[in-house]
Amino acid sequence: MLSYDVIIVGGGLAGLMTSLGVVDSHKVALFSKVHPLRSHSLAAQGGLNASLGNVPGSADDNWEKHTFDTIKGSDYLADQDAVETMCRIGPEVVYELEHMGVPFSRTSEGKIAQRPFGGADYPRTCYAADRTGHVLLHTLYEQSVKKNVEVYTEWLVTSLIIKDNRAQGITALNYSTGEIVAFSARAVVLATGGYGRGYQNSTNAIINTGSGIAVAYRAGIPIKDLEFVQFHPTTLYGTNILMTEGARGEGGYLLNNKGERFMKKYAASKMELAPRDIVSRSMTTEILEGHGFENAFLHLDLRHLGEKKILERLPGIRDITIDFAGVDPVKEPIPVQPGQHYSMGGIDTNEKGETKVRGVYAAGECACVSVHGANRLGGNSLLETVTFGKIVSNQLRDFLASSKEESDKVFLDRALVKEKQRIEELFQRKGKRRYSEVRDELRRVMFTYVGIFRKEEELNTACEKVRQLKRDYRDVAVSYKTRSLNFELINTLELEGMLDLAEIISQGALARKESRGSHFRTDYPTRDDAKWMRHTLAFFTPNGLKFDYKEVKVTRYAPQERKY
Ligand SMILES: Cc1cc2nc3c(=O)[nH]c(=O)nc-3n(C[C@H](O)[C@H](O)[C@H](O)COP(=O)(O)OP(=O)(O)OC[C@H]3O[C@@H](n4cnc5c(N)ncnc54)[C@H](O)[C@@H]3O)c2cc1C
Repeated sequence: MLSYDVIIVGGGLAGLMTSLGVVDSHKVALFSKVHPLRSHSLAAQGGLNASLGNVPGSADDNWEKHTFDTIKGSDYLADQDAVETMCRIGPEVVYELEHMGVPFSRTSEGKIAQRPFGGADYPRTCYAADRTGHVLLHTLYEQSVKKNVEVYTEWLVTSLIIKDNRAQGITALNYSTGEIVAFSARAVVLATGGYGRGYQNSTNAIINTGSGIAVAYRAGIPIKDLEFVQFHPTTLYGTNILMTEGARGEGGYLLNNKGERFMKKYAASKMELAPRDIVSRSMTTEILEGHGFENAFLHLDLRHLGEKKILERLPGIRDITIDFAGVDPVKEPIPVQPGQHYSMGGIDTNEKGETKVRGVYAAGECACVSVHGANRLGGNSLLETVTFGKIVSNQLRDFLASSKEESDKVFLDRALVKEKQRIEELFQRKGKRRYSEVRDELRRVMFTYVGIFRKEEELNTACEKVRQLKRDYRDVAVSYKTRSLNFELINTLELEGMLDLAEIISQGALARKESRGSHFRTDYPTRDDAKWMRHTLAFFTPNGLKFDYKEVKVTRYAPQERKY
């Protein structure tokens, strides 16, 4: 059996950043379902936040102001110690990225350029035109090649193996051969990204199924705050490809069918740059009240920015709208609608990225530290991936130095046998359901009943339908029997995890009888700090899903009403 000090699951920004901090001193393997450069991080457009104070109007910005904006944006559900850490080290990590070679856009003085983003009092989002994730991921990947990080590409990690509350290793499916293999590791880091594809109308990559969160859940690690699902206000109508918040950061307007900048009714001081939960709800309200186009979309108007600015700052957006909608934003407004975008919840960790299991860590979008609470501010997720990637790699070095225990190979072998049986059983099933039918119905159910506006009746419907889909899943058989490159098997395995997460989201949303950030209950429209200023924890038990709750960490910022 192959043994490593550290196994990192995920080749996006969080996984790569973690690997760079440990590869010089330890034996590291990085697993990814796809080539690391195809991770969803690549698609990030608008940028990452750090209080550098590089542009006019931001000279007195600092990490404490960034911390406050983030906590207010989170509707006071974020853990304040973790937010402080992220915002304090943000600038030094951004400079580290610059020194690795990230080609940021520049000010006329040659400093890293920054643009305004939603919910922030200063322009602090550092960017590379509208392709920030692309340049970050390429730079970190190049560094990982230089440092010889060992990468297992096109492997699906199917389970996390734990004994006596300590990491032992993983099992993984090799796409090309179809083999299931166990690997031993003294520490495992989950950096597997979000679950957006559990929803219809998502900006996420096809691979974003949340399988790493589901793997942690099945291994007994609690999943935190999963009911908080971010909807991005501006996705291209019809395809839901993201139209970056940077488009509004550069001055773009949102218009209804009367040509009005309707955000003045909902968030007069921040207008289009109010936080995402507020803009998405405002847009949905406009459409429901008959002020949309075809009762389905609104306009994102960039024309007044002029061709030069659009070509320089938003070239990717222009290419996308021309290619996918036949719309040139220099001449016409872009049709947009809100779409699922980001997972605020995830694997429960503390402010160091540690889970409750010794040697198991989580970082990036799959983790819930929590720095985003009930609503994430744009630009804070890329920042989270690199800052917590770094923090976790520091933790790993200390942990590996202090704990020399080796994995139990006999135990791992037994876990492998069980995992092989589980997968074999999928091939043997006689049921008639197709994974794709169950999956598509699941996505529709989540989008329809657990979306931007929620209420008891609809959430009950969602819970019931998800339970039914879980029963249907038992009738899903893998009809294609070849082991090599069996995507029917891979999708069927991932669907089981998507169903688990859907159950946690819908039941968690039903239980939370208040409105906070992205979780808006029309039947409980106000925030209830006395009862609900606490994190939801979801546990997998032999008798099914169980919830518990834990306190939010408050340092210096007492909850206030959130006004923009
Ligand atoms: C279109 C779009 C634009 C965005 N723009 C911005 C932005 O401008 N600013 C910002 O702050 N945020 C942005 N975000 C959010 C941000 O990009 C993501 O949250 C972040 O990049 C996630 O990084 P990650 O490393 O956690 O995961 P990802 O980049 O999603 O990588 C996950 C990795 O895990 C691997 N993996 C998953 N499951 C398994 C498994 N079971 N076995 C093996 N491997 C597995 C995948 O192969 C992949 O390599 C955007 C998101 C989207 C969708």
